[in-house]
Amino acid sequence: MEQMFIQSEEQQAILETVRRFVEDYIKVTAPELDAKTDPEDGFSWEMVEKADELGIRTMTLSERYGGLGVNSLTTAMVVEELARGDLGTSVVMAQTLKLAQIMEKALNDDQKERSLELFKDDPRGCLAIGITEPDNASNYFLKTPVPFRTTAEKTDGGWVVNGMKHFISNGNVSSFYLLFVQTEKGKTMAKGATCFLLEKGREGFTIGRVHDKMGERTANNAELVFQDCFIPDENVVGEVGKGFDLLAEFFPQSNAYAAASILGVAVALYERATEWAKVRVQGGKPIIEHDGIRAQLAEMKMLIDASRSYIHRATYLADNQEQGWDPTLGVLPKAMASQAAWKIATWTMEIHGGHGFMKEFGVEKLLRDAAAFLHSDGVNRTLFLKAAHMIHGWPEQG
Ligand SMILES: Cc1cc2nc3c(=O)[nH]c(=O)nc-3n(C[C@H](O)[C@H](O)[C@H](O)COP(=O)(O)OP(=O)(O)OC[C@H]3O[C@@H](n4cnc5c(N)ncnc54)[C@H](O)[C@@H]3O)c2cc1C
Repeated sequence: MEQMFIQSEEQQAILETVRRFVEDYIKVTAPELDAKTDPEDGFSWEMVEKADELGIRTMTLSERYGGLGVNSLTTAMVVEELARGDLGTSVVMAQTLKLAQIMEKALNDDQKERSLELFKDDPRGCLAIGITEPDNASNYFLKTPVPFRTTAEKTDGGWVVNGMKHFISNGNVSSFYLLFVQTEKGKTMAKGATCFLLEKGREGFTIGRVHDKMGERTANNAELVFQDCFIPDENVVGEVGKGFDLLAEFFPQSNAYAAASILGVAVALYERATEWAKVRVQGGKPIIEHDGIRAQLAEMKMLIDASRSYIHRATYLADNQEQGWDPTLGVLPKAMASQAAWKIATWTMEIHGGHGFMKEFGVEKLLRDAAAFLHSDGVNRTLFLKAAHMIHGWPEQG
């Protein structure tokens, strides 16, 4: 299935490189990694190093930081291609690519010197964003003024952070983090949070459990634990109390990147369903010649194409906001693509009959992966609520 809107030879060359990486390496190694029992073993440093060699790891950075300066539309295409091979791989890279992109825009020169200069030269450099807390997850998407478990108390020259984050993608493998902590109590996280640049190994910051996930197993998710962790004022990104404004200003394409990841899984499922329908003979002919199956394949294609159009529109307009940016493009593409992927996963199982249930046919892994983004990057219902508030105004609640 071809990507649309390929505008330049450079873009074409990047996508071909990624496709080769996916066909020759990711598709070969991912199934074995996915099957590892210990969740930490699913993650592969070799994969990160190979992505680095090909220039994928740093491609959203400008040439100044050794990157290719690719735009958000191209990044979404790359993320989709990676996920066509393996969702976890795509997530490891998507997190890193999107955070590199925002860090170059949002960090001051001193912060970039202390983070991006090291990140660009580290072939294992990965990045993570820490917002979600065990008892406050959807709350940060909505304007609910609740106390968050993780606290940051002001002290001389900085902040002392106590508490924990969980579910954090790349949490245990990253060298730098953007950490969002509520610094103004009694306000919503959206209004009273500060963004900090956090380095791996800072005193008082440790990694807790690595979560054992049902899918997306080649990416690690972990708890970030803070015990009297001092973070200096120099690490405040932007202004105190304005953490979430940074995301709105510098990160409108984030949701569409998540959508591109899950879209890649939908494409992989569709390809498998089509191949199977061509070779499986029942009722005297390949099942693709039965009307019910043909119609279902067409519906899958429609959902994929519509999701991709939405993602491409969102990423293009995120970079060209003067041409008509609509804030709901910052929350809805992921909801659409993940719902599409989940439907396509169940239909692909159905088309495979009993074979879909047998691990050796590979649909089982894709089904587990397809569930991942019903909740990652915000539970879908929460995102619909957020979009509704954008369209109709926020109800009075703080
Ligand atoms: C694989 C994975 C990777 C992730 N990576 C990261 C990461 O890198 N960084 C990060 O910070 N977070 C990350 N998250 C967290 C993610 O973004 C979600 O916010 C989080 O998983 C929501 O989890 P929860 O189970 O606590 O849901 P809850 O917030 O407890 O929601 C449970 C249900 O209640 C509904 N609900 C909640 N509030 C309302 C309301 N006010 N009105 C109506 N319905 C409501 C929700 O829609 C949902 O259906 C990740 C999550 C997953 C699963």
